[in-house]
Amino acid sequence: MAKVELRGITKIFNGTVAVRKTDLEICDGEFMVLVGPSGCGKTTTLRMVAGLEMPSDGMILIGEKDVTYAEPKNRDIAMVFQSYALYPHMTVYENMAFHLKIKKMDKKEIDERVQNAAALLGLSNYLARYPKQLSGGQRQRVALGRAIVRQPQVFLMDEPLSNLDAKLRVQTRAELIKLHQKLKTTFIYVTHDQTEAMTMGTRIVVMKDGKIQQVGTPAEIYNHPANLFVATFIGSPAMNLLEGTLTRETDHLLRFCGNGISVQFPNTDLKIDNNSKVLLGIRPENMNIYPVENNPNFNDSCLRCMVEVVEHIGSEAILHTRTEHQEYMIIKIPGHAKIPAVGAQIQAQIFYGKTHLFDADSGNKLCTRSYGAVENC
Ligand code: ATP
Repeated sequence: MAKVELRGITKIFNGTVAVRKTDLEICDGEFMVLVGPSGCGKTTTLRMVAGLEMPSDGMILIGEKDVTYAEPKNRDIAMVFQSYALYPHMTVYENMAFHLKIKKMDKKEIDERVQNAAALLGLSNYLARYPKQLSGGQRQRVALGRAIVRQPQVFLMDEPLSNLDAKLRVQTRAELIKLHQKLKTTFIYVTHDQTEAMTMGTRIVVMKDGKIQQVGTPAEIYNHPANLFVATFIGSPAMNLLEGTLTRETDHLLRFCGNGISVQFPNTDLKIDNNSKVLLGIRPENMNIYPVENNPNFNDSCLRCMVEVVEHIGSEAILHTRTEHQEYMIIKIPGHAKIPAVGAQIQAQIFYGKTHLFDADSGNKLCTRSYGAVENC
């Protein structure tokens, strides 16, 4: 087990900045997930921790030891890749034992470690099989077993579930969480899948264009996104954004005015120019819907919308709607609710207490309204 630290890490490939001036501290025993769109620099970051790429600048420490330029084999890490990279001519047992044999470990010790890892991963009955005789999920478990037997200080995983079908991915996700709970070792896990990040990470690093956008627990990232990118990247369907202006009404009150909507933000601290251009962020689940002619709670946080598409997902329904002012709005309602038909006019009432304000130019968050309280950035 070990803490991993990146200090001012930059990686430039032939003039392309893949990772820029990154500082990150991953605590001992943490399950840290790096997430972001393709090309944002997550794999490069992981490969630098593994020693498979050398940083152009900065320092990497594992367990307080400077390993910036150390060989991968001297870092006490084990990496699991998207492609399982098993040796096809070796049995499961031989695949798992391979690195230990190279290290000339005692046969009895090797056997003990392989048997223990196989039991942990439910592979005990498959040790004599060859990779081609296994399912995708079993192969991925062998790849994990090969990492586990090395008893590394840090596990590095690069999209290890992406070759599995949807059902198996969900199962294996849960197995990896259990594995982390049992081993209590530091995990660094790369994915572009925000559901994986949200369900597996004890903390998440959201990256874009080689830069960290936010580091936090899944709840922090979801409920308090630092900027527009994080707000719209995490959460499915994505957060709705309504254009408008922000004006200070009194010492204690800000007012967002958009197309057909007005929302108050009790706030004393935020320094703004009146009529600043902002975006109001509302998650799809943070709205109630009513028939237009029968809304007992009608007020100025209600928007009239026309339903364009309805997606029935069983436990919930996703309504793709358009406001009177032609703004696109997605609303998520429980599957047991009365689901409006395509073409229906509805009133969407925004939960006052769950809205976010972003600066329209910089994309930075200005404040979040979290029920009664308003938190500035
Ligand atoms: P993906 O999810 O698609 O794997 P990623 O977030 O892991 O993407 P990286 O693979 O780290 O992104 O790539 C970051 C940037 O660095 C990209 O612009 C990529 O083209 C570039 N890059 C990565 N490896 C190399 C390389 N060996 N040579 C040149 N450019 C590279």
